[in-house]
Amino acid sequence: MAYKIDPNKCIGCHTCMGACPAMAISIAPDGKCVIDPNKCMSCGTCAAVCPVGAIAHE
Ligand code: SF4
Ligand code: SF4
Repeated sequence: MAYKIDPNKCIGCHTCMGACPAMAISIAPDGKCVIDPNKCMSCGTCAAVCPVGAIAHE
């Protein structure tokens, strides 16, 4: 299962995007980040760098 970003917690800092080795994270129209579950390899790096704990394993 992929990791997922909680849009209610995400502050749109985009730190996770630069940290993802699979380039699975992109910016949504609202400025927050979203993870493509088809690209995510569940490494957990994004969850480790997110300053507000918005990313969790589904
Ligand atoms: S868990 Fe790893 S591969 Fe998946 S979105 Fe986060 S950093 Fe990218
Ligand atoms: S690091 Fe966290 S707060 Fe920043 S864009 Fe990613 S999910 Fe949102």
